[in-house]
Amino acid sequence: MPAYDYQCKKCGKVEEFLHSIKDAPVYKCPDCKKVMVRLITLNRTGFIMKGGTPAINYREKQLRLKKREKLAKKEKTRYGTGSSIQPNVAGMETDSWSDAQKVAKEAGMDTDSYTPYVEKEKKKKIKVV
Ligand SMILES: [Zn+2]
Repeated sequence: MPAYDYQCKKCGKVEEFLHSIKDAPVYKCPDCKKVMVRLITLNRTGFIMKGGTPAINYREKQLRLKKREKLAKKEKTRYGTGSSIQPNVAGMETDSWSDAQKVAKEAGMDTDSYTPYVEKEKKKKIKVV
């Protein structure tokens, strides 16, 4: 019987359960009694079924989501409100976008979204000088 990892939705505890492929039992977290969800991994179960296994579908879905996210980011950059936005980090205003990016980086936030603004800022500065 293959082993499956289940993760608690609430506390994140991971437990391993053995059951047949056909079965889809519901396991409850031993700690907080919340329903656990199956973690789908290709390497753990070690087999690939033809015609799209849930594992593959899941991975494809994730990849597609990531692609969509990337596209959305690009669109934002291209058609975004651009210079009308004040430099800020999560609503907190900063002197410049490069400052905002610095603060975001220090806070462990995603700094990629600041890059286009920082680039724009740099170009502006060069023009002035
Ligand atoms: Zn739990």
